[in-house]
Amino acid sequence: MRDRLLRGTFPSSNLRFAVCETRELCSEGLARLKSDWIAGWLLSEALTCAALLSVGLKDEERLSLRWAYSGPVGTILADMNEKAQVRGFTQRLRLMPGVSTLDEAMGGSGKVSVVSSFPDRVGQMGITEAVFQDITRDLAHFLSLSFQIETALAVGLIIRPEDPIHLSSATGLLLQPLPGCDNALFNGVREIVEHQGFRDWLEAAPRMPEEVLARLGLKETPSILNEITPSYSCHCSREKVESVLRMLDAEELRDMLEKDGHAEINCHFCAEHYWFSGTDLQTLIEQCQAGHA
Ligand SMILES: [Zn+2]
Repeated sequence: MRDRLLRGTFPSSNLRFAVCETRELCSEGLARLKSDWIAGWLLSEALTCAALLSVGLKDEERLSLRWAYSGPVGTILADMNEKAQVRGFTQRLRLMPGVSTLDEAMGGSGKVSVVSSFPDRVGQMGITEAVFQDITRDLAHFLSLSFQIETALAVGLIIRPEDPIHLSSATGLLLQPLPGCDNALFNGVREIVEHQGFRDWLEAAPRMPEEVLARLGLKETPSILNEITPSYSCHCSREKVESVLRMLDAEELRDMLEKDGHAEINCHFCAEHYWFSGTDLQTLIEQCQAGHA
């Protein structure tokens, strides 16, 4: 099954939805970052949530999702644009064998924060407690509480616990009420989506987006507004890494040059490797001194 992200509504119920298959997207992230099973599970869940949320973004808007848990996994980050180009990482990529369950990896408390940004300005932002110790539910809670967008979210993954990690399915569903939506109807749908039984069904076999929508049991046909292919995509570049090095002062750059003779920088999101030779560093130092003169 290839990756798909569908956006649409249940017109009579006044509900909008996003539903996706993100197996290829998540597999690309897992392969680049070489996550183990536990970190990879959490990363795939975060990436699938990010793909779902991309449907609500405006032109050139980016959204950064950050879950900071007290357990060994630490921070989980995912960001995306309106084209569902998604990327992310977990602070620790390999937690096993010291950590053996997802609960243990996340620990007892945490925070969820979200920042929206445009090329020229920061948009909305907020932070809430992570009360469920569950990536998907903690994010839905954040959206309802901080952004005041009532949201029901579900993600189902099928990942065998082996190394290297192999993901055979990743499916996600997001539902939000539109103006005029009956409260009781939305709460009923949210209950279905957040029920463990729904997640178990998602994780029992790969499910087509259409099947996922039908599973809600609403007595109307969903209206699909558009379909796109979400992807794992990092927009890092040598120029961007160089601009980060330029933020250091000449002293720090000289330190690097004297200690290591070069600078080596890996992108957290895509593991791309950037190498700056001694000559490159020397040029940066000279430019830095000229800039401060
Ligand atoms: Zn990158």
